[in-house]
Amino acid sequence: MPVELAVTLIRAVNTHTLTREEIDALLQTEGEQAKALYRAADQVRAEHLGEEVHLRAIIEFSNYCVRNCLYCGLRRDNRLLTRYRMAPEEILAAARQARDEGYWSIVLQSGEDPAYTVDDLAGLIQRIKEKLDVAVTLSLGDRSRDDYRRLRDAGANRYLLKHETADPALFARLRPGTTLERRLQELRWLEELGYQVGAGNMIGLPGQTVETLVSDILLLKDLCVEMAGIGPFIPHPDTPLATSPAGSLEMTLKVLAITRLLLPHTHLPATTAVATLDPAGRRRALQAGANVVMPDLTPAPYRQHYDIYPGRGRPAGEGAASFAWWEREMAAIGRKVAIGYGHILRDDGFHGVVDGHRRPC
Ligand code: SF4
Repeated sequence: MPVELAVTLIRAVNTHTLTREEIDALLQTEGEQAKALYRAADQVRAEHLGEEVHLRAIIEFSNYCVRNCLYCGLRRDNRLLTRYRMAPEEILAAARQARDEGYWSIVLQSGEDPAYTVDDLAGLIQRIKEKLDVAVTLSLGDRSRDDYRRLRDAGANRYLLKHETADPALFARLRPGTTLERRLQELRWLEELGYQVGAGNMIGLPGQTVETLVSDILLLKDLCVEMAGIGPFIPHPDTPLATSPAGSLEMTLKVLAITRLLLPHTHLPATTAVATLDPAGRRRALQAGANVVMPDLTPAPYRQHYDIYPGRGRPAGEGAASFAWWEREMAAIGRKVAIGYGHILRDDGFHGVVDGHRRPC
């Protein structure tokens, strides 16, 4: 390995800083050099977050969406998709099943579906928080600041709102009718309102360059997010990007690893998209900086229809998304499943139980 690269990695492990040029160079590494990057990220993960892997049970309760993002199978104009909405009682039952299974953290995810009013959602969150001892993450897309406030007041702990790409022109092209500027504004609102905030981006989007990925990583650092979902673009056959090539696993792992070097305390999932691209993808991500897995606990009649990209599904043998299955899977790579809400943990002992304006960096 070139001395310069080794020095860069040692400094990044210790100071969590990298210049734009250094990130660019790391993104171009291959073979043994890329492996050295993954090892450095794994070292930072182990030093700051330990061997625990946090499980977040995800419940995808509606695949209706008013948006028309070019890359997404849930887009409004995809008439081939069987649409569904789960009733609040069904969502509560799914959350209860996740808790009974052993999960301490649930994610409620949907397309942008105004059929659920803020009152519906706030009422649901309140009931979940009253009846079940779980942390609640929301992933519902764009809402007004007042809606975010109402949902936070109802008890939601975290909000995932991926920035998707740091290139404003690409963002506007891929997500018609929306802007990166507005999304960043919403991320700031979420932080002000005391959510633990998640952003994240896709790797391999048509029109994306290495320079864009550098900006994505630096934006995550700048936002100082508590969570970042980094996954490959996977083309969906019923979208305008059907014939575009998928993002690569290696580039996804490099972006993930560099993000870990810069954000030692941020929760980084080994995404389902990584596992979809390659059966070994999830394990490799967990060995390149990731510390979170999000098993899909959407009830069986609906699960197959949350078709944002093809090939999603539970890994073979996962059974009923059982906690025990994940404990065995993590033990096989020398890791263990975390017990608890999985709030952000910093070296100074802050454990995020009282979440508020505490940032991971
Ligand atoms: S990416 Fe999100 S907002 Fe866009 S179409 Fe898909 S579900 Fe809707």
